[in-house]
Amino acid sequence: MSQHYSAYHIIQKKRDKESLSKEEIKWFINGVTSKEISDYQMSALLMAIYLNGLDKEETAFLTDAMLYSGKVLDFKEQHFIDKHSTGGVGDKTSFILAPIAATLGIKVPMIAGRGLGHTGGTVDKIESIKGFKTDISLDEFQKLLIERGLVLIGQTKEIAPADKIIYSLRDVTATIESIPLITASIMSKKLAEGAKGIVLDIKTGNGAFMAKTSDAKKLASSIRDTALRFDKNIMTVITDMNEPLGNAIGNSLEIIECIETLKGNGPKDLTEVSLYLAGGMIYLGGKAKTLKEGIKKAEQTIKDGSALKKFRELIKNQGGDVSVVDNYALLPQTNFSIEVIANKKGYIHQMDCKNFGNHIVTLGGGRRQASDKVDFAPGIILHKKVNDLINVNDVIATIYCHKNQSDLAIEIAGSILNHDLVIKKSKPTKKKKLIIESNINFSKKTKKK
Ligand code: URA
Repeated sequence: MSQHYSAYHIIQKKRDKESLSKEEIKWFINGVTSKEISDYQMSALLMAIYLNGLDKEETAFLTDAMLYSGKVLDFKEQHFIDKHSTGGVGDKTSFILAPIAATLGIKVPMIAGRGLGHTGGTVDKIESIKGFKTDISLDEFQKLLIERGLVLIGQTKEIAPADKIIYSLRDVTATIESIPLITASIMSKKLAEGAKGIVLDIKTGNGAFMAKTSDAKKLASSIRDTALRFDKNIMTVITDMNEPLGNAIGNSLEIIECIETLKGNGPKDLTEVSLYLAGGMIYLGGKAKTLKEGIKKAEQTIKDGSALKKFRELIKNQGGDVSVVDNYALLPQTNFSIEVIANKKGYIHQMDCKNFGNHIVTLGGGRRQASDKVDFAPGIILHKKVNDLINVNDVIATIYCHKNQSDLAIEIAGSILNHDLVIKKSKPTKKKKLIIESNINFSKKTKKK
C-alpha cells in the first residue's frame, strides 16, 4: 500500500463534507481489502458517508474501487443480462424470469444471495431441490453460461471481496440505509459478474428494505447513473412489497409456486411482475424491439412450455433432481399444518409484510445470523391478500411446520389474526399498484450500434 494518503485525513475530509478523489477512495478500499486499514477507520468513514453522502462521481469511484477488489468478468455482447432484486418477502421471480429469458436467447449469469433477516434468499430457495449445486467455481460458471445460457450460483469470495468486509461493518454500525453505500454494494457485485445489461427490481413498502417510495426512487436514480457510467444497459423497476409476492412464503413452497407459474397456473401478482422483468431482460438484451414485445414473447414461453423446459435444464445442469418438477412430494416437507381461520368479516386493507417474513425465520426457514442453517420445509400459504373480502370462518392462511413446532405455529396464527392484518368493514378505495415506476436506459455505446 503506497503511503501517499492518510486514512485519518480521508475520514476527516468526508466528516467535513468535502469531496473525495478517485485515488483517495481507491487507496482506502484497497487498504480495507488488504486489512492494512482497520475496521474502526472504515466504520468511521462509513458513518461520515452515511451522514454527509457521496455525490454521483464519488459513488462511481467507490463502486469502481469495490468492483476491482476482486475478479471481474466481462461478457461484451448485449444479450448477457442479469437481474437483481433488493429483496422482499415471497420474492421468487428469478426462478421464473431467468428460464423465460434464457429460452429467448438471453444469457443469464446469476450470482445470487442467501436470505438474511426477514427476506428470503434465492440460493436457499433453489437448494430446496435435492442435489442442486450453487457452489460452482467461476470458471465452471462461465462455461455453463456460454454453453447452456443460464446459471445460478451463490456469492463467491472472488467477486467484490471488499463488499463482504464493508457490508458486515455496515450491518453493525447502523450504516446500511445509505443510497450511495447501497448503490456501490449492489453495483460492484453486479458489474463484476460481467453482464452487459442489468434489470434491477427495487422493492418498496413495509416488507422491503426501502420502505418509502421516495427513497426507492432515489436509489433507482443512483443505480441508473452508476450503470451508465460503467457502460451498462439498465432497467430499474420499483415494485410493491406491502404484502408478500404470490401466495407462498418459505423455501420449498416458493419453488412449488414458481413451477406452477411456469406451468401457467401462477398467482396473478407473481406472474405479472415476473413477465414484466423478463420482458425487460429480453428488450435490454436486444431480443425484442420494445418492452411490450419482450413481455409478449415472455408470455408465449409459458404458454408453449419452453420456459418450464429450460427450468428443467437448469436443474439438470447443476446436478439437481429434475423429477421435483412433476412430483412436489420430493421437496422437503413438513408433517404438520394449521389453518388460520377468520374471526371477523371485512376487507384486508393492509398486511405487515415484514412480519410474515419473520414468521418464516421463526419456523427455521430463514436466518437470524449468516451462520444459521436453513430448514427448507416450513412456510405459509396465504389464501387471502390485500383488498380481498374475508368472511367469518374463511381460511386466511395455512402454516406448514414440523409437529414439534405446533406451539410456535399457534403463536404465529395469533399474530396473523390479531396483529399482521388490518381488516375493515369498508371496501378499500385505493387500487393496488404492483409496478410503481419503471425506467430503461441504454448506454451510449449500445445506442450507436
Ligand atoms: N443488497 C446489497 O447487496 N447491498 C446493499 O447494501 C443492500 C442490498
